[in-house]
Amino acid sequence: MIGQQERKPLLLTNVRPIGFGAETPGSAVDILIDGNGRIAQVGPQLSVSCEMICVDGKGAWISPGWIDLHVHIWHGGTDISVRPSECGAERGVTTLVDAGSAGEANFHGFRQYIIEPSRERIKAFLNLGSIGLVACNRVSELRDIRDIDLDRILECYSENSEHIVGIKVRASHVITGSWGVTPVKLGKKISKILKVPMMVHVGEPPALYDEVLEVLGPGDVVTHCFNGKAGSSILEDEDLFDLAQRCAGEGIRLDIGHGGASFSFKVAEAAIKRGLMPFSISTDLHGHSMNFPVWDLATTMSKLLCVGMPFDKVVAAVTHAPASVIKLSMENRLAVGQRADFTVFDLVDSDVEATDSNGDVAVLEKLFEPRYAVIGSEAIAASRYIPRARRLVRHSHGYSYR
Ligand SMILES: [Zn+2]
Repeated sequence: MIGQQERKPLLLTNVRPIGFGAETPGSAVDILIDGNGRIAQVGPQLSVSCEMICVDGKGAWISPGWIDLHVHIWHGGTDISVRPSECGAERGVTTLVDAGSAGEANFHGFRQYIIEPSRERIKAFLNLGSIGLVACNRVSELRDIRDIDLDRILECYSENSEHIVGIKVRASHVITGSWGVTPVKLGKKISKILKVPMMVHVGEPPALYDEVLEVLGPGDVVTHCFNGKAGSSILEDEDLFDLAQRCAGEGIRLDIGHGGASFSFKVAEAAIKRGLMPFSISTDLHGHSMNFPVWDLATTMSKLLCVGMPFDKVVAAVTHAPASVIKLSMENRLAVGQRADFTVFDLVDSDVEATDSNGDVAVLEKLFEPRYAVIGSEAIAASRYIPRARRLVRHSHGYSYR
């Protein structure tokens, strides 16, 4: 970390802006950020003083700060979450959106111990189930209606509306048994009352991906959109593919949510080839997906680039697109007076082999390499996550790699 205590001005030199809309300068610039974290000057070759912290961008790209729309970071309050520091600024991500780790019963702890002390901006989808992901996939948060308390959800939202950006429902029989699409309908009702979007996880049916799309409306998010699960892949069923394409056109947001089990190179490649782009790229990072197969947001972005998504669309899918979901303004992000929130990164040649959630492998010939997360007047050195060696873990029902 550079310059937190000193609160000296920060001068970023030789960075190439991308993703700032019509205001994007056409060539490399220097950016001066004052000690209060606000942009003081933007232009070619600004003058340096000994009062400044200087960071040489060496011609790297600079975009609005990356946003990961689907992570699990209620570390200590759930058995599945990682710490924000493991997937945030040090990975080039300045905003993390927790996707339903906390429910109304434990959101106050998430706010006090995670949201408030973190240097990253943290927003959250509130789980429809009261307990959230305390013991994820072992103690379901949505067994039946006794797990949902509408009054307390409304109360929790009114106390935390600056942090909560929507309602999260995991619609998969692993969680909901035979309860089908009913929890999604209840979640939709609450999100309509609160006037916030709902994010729905699609997976093992029931509920069917098709049924979920029928309940959602413009502004809502379906995460794990390009999963390769039997009964839930958009490639297996032309009617579902057509429905997903129509819904995307009507404003339902298709989010990647890679995760341990929910991203398929084959599905993504075929969908993109047929013109169906994901709206947002997110990791679904948690303790069981980080080492295998996700690693981080930069690698997930590189995977989408690898299967045919254009570079500028990949950048938009971690900046403008998720920003619109969480109502974060992207106007004039490079203007004097704005608070600095940037990611500095390179796109490098690579021969890294990466794996999707189905075990398929692809060589990533181009790799997003984060260099710095800039949050106010701090430039935090960033890099891709280096996965730990996989280890065999014994469970009550057998063995798996972690
Ligand atoms: Zn998740």
